Amino acid sequence: MSSEAETPEKALKAGRGYGRVYNFNGGPAALPQEVLEEAAGELLNWRGSGMSMMEISHRDKRVVQMVGDCESDILALLGLGSEWRAIFLQGGASLQFAMIPMNFAADGAVSDYVNTGMWSDKAYKEALVCGSKARLAASSQKDDFTRIPDSFDFSQEARYVYLTANNTVRGTEWRSFPEKAPAPLISDMSSDFLSRPLDLKNFVLAHAGAQKNVGPAGLTIVLIKPEFAATGKKGLPRLLDYRTYLESDSMYNTPPVFSIYVAGLVMKWLRNKIGGLSRMAAINQKKAAALYLAIDQSQGFYRGTAREDSRSLMNVTFRLPTPELEEAFLAQAKKEGLWGLNGHRSVGGIRASIYNAVPAEAVKTLIEFMAEFQRRA
Ligand SMILES: *Cc1c(COP(=O)(O)O)cnc(C)c1O
Repeated sequence: MSSEAETPEKALKAGRGYGRVYNFNGGPAALPQEVLEEAAGELLNWRGSGMSMMEISHRDKRVVQMVGDCESDILALLGLGSEWRAIFLQGGASLQFAMIPMNFAADGAVSDYVNTGMWSDKAYKEALVCGSKARLAASSQKDDFTRIPDSFDFSQEARYVYLTANNTVRGTEWRSFPEKAPAPLISDMSSDFLSRPLDLKNFVLAHAGAQKNVGPAGLTIVLIKPEFAATGKKGLPRLLDYRTYLESDSMYNTPPVFSIYVAGLVMKWLRNKIGGLSRMAAINQKKAAALYLAIDQSQGFYRGTAREDSRSLMNVTFRLPTPELEEAFLAQAKKEGLWGLNGHRSVGGIRASIYNAVPAEAVKTLIEFMAEFQRRA
């Protein structure tokens, strides 16, 4: 494994001497270097407490304040008013697959699912397990999940319509969400949360595992309208009831304090360094456009797997002419300090995850590498 430990000159420079690679991991994924530096700098003595932030009671008022600030920063970045809350949970996006139907569609109530691939399929199946009469309002399975559906068969009885904003595995992303669904929308936004401004007017809930675009694993952020939470099934175990988190400001039991802390630093980074979500979206669009252009101008050597109108700005998926070339591409890329480019284990191929924290410089280096690899192939 010694070649994996060698850090090429280019990456060393990008990592400002830390020996960091260009990180294209699908998740857990890159965090902004400034955030890591700040966390490292105050790790041993957090804000004059004489302790690290992992060693303090979550009832300490500084910690309570920190958690509250993280919530208000998320709401402020998204421009959400007082009809929304952000709450902090554990159990990943996958627990939300169960909690949503348990709260809002148990006991045979109808729920509508749009199947755009693995994560939405899992959510749909979990709804069935949790006693919902879940149905598929649309699916792109027959197109091998290469696109986002554009026509829907919604039920008039559904309690909600569930969709996955960005398919991390296949590299497809909703450009805009259905306007005319009879039921309110719920979305898994794990892999594009805070990558762009969101119009949540038709939504009642959106959830995101932190480890793609926001912070360390162990934290799930749920945006929820308390008015909607109030309609949930009563008598659930406390930690499975959204009201518990709303009523306790996410402090019913010990929250994932360190993960929330890092997420809070990411919010400040988004606000102060980037300048908000419109700026973030513009940066993300530029990165993705450059990479897709490199794919499209490769005379078919690189082939994007998602349909053009459904291409994700977060996960750019493509293939090379043969599996052998893909293997060589991945091996050579690692030597150049370009890390995590392998496709999801369920589909193979190449996936460049270019989340918020992946700098334009990393994308530029990847594009240069792709051109060079093609020249030599
Ligand atoms: C990664 C991912 C998940 C799974 O998240 P966990 O936190 O591991 O449960 C779910 N949905 C999407 C869209 C993802 O990208």
